Amino acid sequence: MTGAIVLDIEGTTSPTSSVREDLYGYTRDRLPQWLADHSADAAAPVLAGARELAGRPDADAAEVAEILRGWLGSDVKAEPLKTAQGLICHEGFRTGALHGEFFPDVAPALADWKAAGLTLYVYSSGSVRNQRDWFDFARGGELGSLISGYFDLSTAGPKREAASYDKIASAIGVPAAEILFLSDHPEELDAAVAAGWSAVGVHRPGEPNPPRPPHRWIGSFAEIVPT
Ligand SMILES: [Mg+2]
Repeated sequence: MTGAIVLDIEGTTSPTSSVREDLYGYTRDRLPQWLADHSADAAAPVLAGARELAGRPDADAAEVAEILRGWLGSDVKAEPLKTAQGLICHEGFRTGALHGEFFPDVAPALADWKAAGLTLYVYSSGSVRNQRDWFDFARGGELGSLISGYFDLSTAGPKREAASYDKIASAIGVPAAEILFLSDHPEELDAAVAAGWSAVGVHRPGEPNPPRPPHRWIGSFAEIVPT
């Protein structure tokens, strides 16, 4: 019996290109100014975290902006970058410059699953701030009201480690055997299975991660009928 479904975003609910081009592009353009404007408040932990991770304790705000842009370019899932991206993009979502983009089967499936009594959660490397906005400001209508909670690298841990899935199971209070994880990444599926969860791979046309055994793979959320 499935009691809860935990969703990956990039490649699973949403095209990888929409996340990369929209959010990364918006962040890239605004990073230097945002770091300069908020060095004493919201950007302070980002500056400190990036200096530490990069081993550049003396880097000024402009140098940190270049470091973060480098990580953005090579898709390094670093916490200071994800925090900055969440805060910078928040403004973009609020003003209508950004929207959450979803594959067409996602919204109806989430509504069906919710109506069937399942609780739905999101676990993504994007910050919780970013994830919440992605669902709240979904193009075509908000989806945030269907989601009971969000987890990211800072609240749950790395996505390819079983311990992260243990942590989420404890946090949501659902036994591991009753949680279903949906992701396009085989190693994330492996980690969820190692934590005792069920896991199903999602492979959509044009998305980069190829399916691999031993997981079951689907091409649309419509294929998941909760039991
Ligand atoms: Mg993914």
